[in-house]
Parts: sequence; C-alpha cells; structure tokens
Amino acid sequence: MARSWLEYKAPAWVQWCPGCGDFGILNAIYRAVAELDIPPERLVVVGGIGCSGRTTFYVKGSNAHALHGRAIPLATGIKLARPELTVIVAGGDGDLLGIGGGHFVALGRRNVDITVILFNNAVYGLTKGQAAPTLPAWVQTKALTSPNIHDNVNPVLLAFASGYTFIARGYAYHTNQLKELIKAGIRHKGAALIDVLQPCPTYNNVMTNKWYEERIYYVDEEGYDPVIRSADDMRNKLPRIMEKLMEFGNRIPLGILYWNQTRDSFEERLEKLMPGYLQAPPGTRRIDIEGRPVIDPFEVFKDRVIQT
Ligand code: SF4
Repeated sequence: MARSWLEYKAPAWVQWCPGCGDFGILNAIYRAVAELDIPPERLVVVGGIGCSGRTTFYVKGSNAHALHGRAIPLATGIKLARPELTVIVAGGDGDLLGIGGGHFVALGRRNVDITVILFNNAVYGLTKGQAAPTLPAWVQTKALTSPNIHDNVNPVLLAFASGYTFIARGYAYHTNQLKELIKAGIRHKGAALIDVLQPCPTYNNVMTNKWYEERIYYVDEEGYDPVIRSADDMRNKLPRIMEKLMEFGNRIPLGILYWNQTRDSFEERLEKLMPGYLQAPPGTRRIDIEGRPVIDPFEVFKDRVIQT
C-alpha cells in the first residue's frame, strides 16, 4: 500500500502568500513521493533562494538549502555520492535560470538522474517582484516602473538544447496532473525538468490564473507522442517536438513535451569508467577507522612528489 502524503508533511508553518501557486506544487510533490513509496530518509529536496526554496522546510526528507543559484551543483554532489537517493531540486526561474543558469545547462550535459521542479512565476517574488528571466518582453507587472525590455528565456527549449532527457510542463493549480508529471520525472533515469507555471498573485498581476486558464492545454489530448526510442524517432519527431517546445503565447502546451529514452545517465557513464561505483559509491565508503584516515595520502600521491 502506498504511503500517506501526510508522512512527508514537515512540522513547519507554510509562509507563502494566500493563493500562491507554490501550495499546489508542494501538494503535488507530497502526493508524488507518497505514491512512489519513497521513504522520507531516502528523499532529498534541494532548494535555492526564493519563495520556492522554502519547499525544503515543508517536505520531510534529508533536505538541503543552497546558496542562490547553487541548488543544482549541491544536488549533483549528493546524487553522485549516494546514487540510490531520490534527489529533487526545487527552485525558481530567477534562481535556476538567472544566477544559476550555467548550472542548469551543466545538469543537462551530464544527464544526472535528478528531477528539477522549476517554480516559474516570471518574477522575483521574495525580493518584491522584479522581472525574472521568464517574464516576456513588454510585459509590465505591478512592481516594474516600465515594461520589461528583456526577451525571456524559454526553459523547456534551453533544457532541450542542454541535453535534458525528460522535459515536461505543468500548471501549479492542476495538482493531479502535476503530480503525475513529477512521478514520471522521478522515475526517468536522467536529468528531468518539470517547468511549472505558477501564478504569483502578490506580484505578477498580468500572468494570473485567468491568463493561464485561457491559454493552457494538454498535449496528450491531441495525441502528441514525446517519446524518443531511436535515432529514427528523433529524426521523424523532431519538428513536432520543436513546435511544442517553442509554443508559448495564445496557446501554452502542458504535459510531457520530450522524453528521450536512448541516452545513458551520468551515473551509468561513471560505472563504465569506474566499475563498482554504483555498488560502493563514495558516500557509502568509510573514510576513517577510529579517527585515522583509511587512505594514506602520502602513498596515493607518492608519484607526484617533487623532489627538491
Ligand atoms: Fe508566492 Fe509570490 Fe507570495 Fe512568493 S511573493 S509566496 S511567489 S505569491
């Protein structure tokens, strides 16, 4: 029997604004990990700085709160040290695509088995509503003194170009559908991005629930097939996949947009390079016996000593 989602509810007062889309994402995470029966001690949620970063305090797990933009490298270190853990990154569009943009790209190149949940509200909510990297050009939200003159980053297209092998988009208020996307992202062996459109009722007075509800639709209702199983699949399906990854205007597609099942994960590549890595990863090895290191550094580096 699956666990109750209540097992994952940390005893902390949730401090988001009333009506914030973050509540829907948090609920979808609770239910996804409960249905996948992931023991809380084997779950790691890594958050960055921003309203979304507080997710690490609200989910029971072996969590970590990183510096601004550094959630992905911290999560990568945790996952590679203990590959058996389920590692989720919870970060905002400012954190992951602004200051953390380089790390976002690096995760795709490596295809580490981590699920990134992008809380995408197009503003820096925690610092009073400045324009974030996903705010479209010429949109003026209430904290801006003039319309935004930057073009926006498209997170799903950037993820595709970077090498993520699972890319989906959900909507924060559609908790059931979002839960299924998060489950699929966690099950996938490789870098997964779930771009979650998330109204910020306090600072984004343009991209509201009404604004999203008038535009969003689910790709699976149109018979869309995002799965890549071979090079031929890639050739044949690429034009349609690009269409869905680039569509963001009067219509915004939700669901699994791209799912490449042909590429090995970083952990599998490490296993090829260092046989035995997955059986005895670094995080499970003893580094000392009664306070003395198990490795003699003088022995390890003896060939590199420069004689003077
Ligand atoms: Fe949510 Fe916006 Fe409030 Fe942050 S500022 S908690 S994103 S409504």
